[in-house]
Amino acid sequence: MHKNQEYMLNTIRQEAKFTASYTGREAFDERVMQAMQRVNRKAFVSADNKDLAFENSPLPIGHGQTISQPYMVALMTDLVDVKPESVVMEIGTGSGYQAAVLSQLVRQVYTVEKIPELAESARQRLKILGYENIEVRCGSGYHGWKEKAPFDAIIVTAAATHIPQSLVDQLKPGARMVIPIGLPQMYQELMLVAKGKGGTTHTDAVMSVSFVPLVMGDNEEKQ
Ligand code: SAH
Repeated sequence: MHKNQEYMLNTIRQEAKFTASYTGREAFDERVMQAMQRVNRKAFVSADNKDLAFENSPLPIGHGQTISQPYMVALMTDLVDVKPESVVMEIGTGSGYQAAVLSQLVRQVYTVEKIPELAESARQRLKILGYENIEVRCGSGYHGWKEKAPFDAIIVTAAATHIPQSLVDQLKPGARMVIPIGLPQMYQELMLVAKGKGGTTHTDAVMSVSFVPLVMGDNEEKQ
C-alpha cells in the first residue's frame, strides 16, 4: 500500500482502538484527527527518512533525539483537551511537529527546546511552513516559561523522573498536562495531570510509553 497521510491516519485510528482500555477513548476527537491530517509529517523528518514519514513510528532527528510516533502525538494532543482560545506550552520542541499539530487547534503555542541546533532548525522550519502562532525558545523547559504562564495545557515530550512542580504551578485551574514519568532509557508511564478549579491536582497513569529523557541539570534535579 502506498504510504501517505491517509495511511497514517488509519494506523492512528487502529491503534486508538487497540489502546482504548488504557486511554478510555476508542477514537480521538475529530478536530485532533483533522490537525493530524493537515500537518505534513514529511516536512518534519530528515531527508533520509522521508520514505518512512507516514509510518506509525518515531524517527531520528539528529542529536540523539526523535520525532515521536504519530499515534503518540495524536494521543497526547487528545488528552489535554484544548480549545480554540487555549494557550499551550510544549517542552521538547524537537522537529516542531507536535507544536505544529497543536497550533492547528489553539490560539498560541509556546515550545521550549534544550538543544540549540534543534531549536533553531525547528524555528526555521515552522517559519518556512507558515505556522505563525508558535514561539520557540531555546533553553531548559524544566522550569517552564514563567513569562508566558499560566497555560491551558502543557505537553512534555521527554521523560522526566518526577513531575516538576514548576510546571504544575504554570497550569491554570482546570488545565491539563501530559508528561511521561519514569526511569530514563526505559519505559515510562504517560501521566495525565489535571488541575481542578480550586487548584488541587489529580494525576492518572494512562499507559506505558517510551520517550527520550528530559535532560535535567544538577540544580534542577534537586528541586
Ligand atoms: N516533540 C518533538 C519530539 C521531542 S523529542 C517533535 O514533535 O518532534 C524530545 C525533545 O526534548 C528533544 O529534542 C530534546 O532535546 C528535548 N529536551 C530534553 N530535555 C529538555 C529540557 N530539559 N528542556 C527542553 N527540551 C528538552
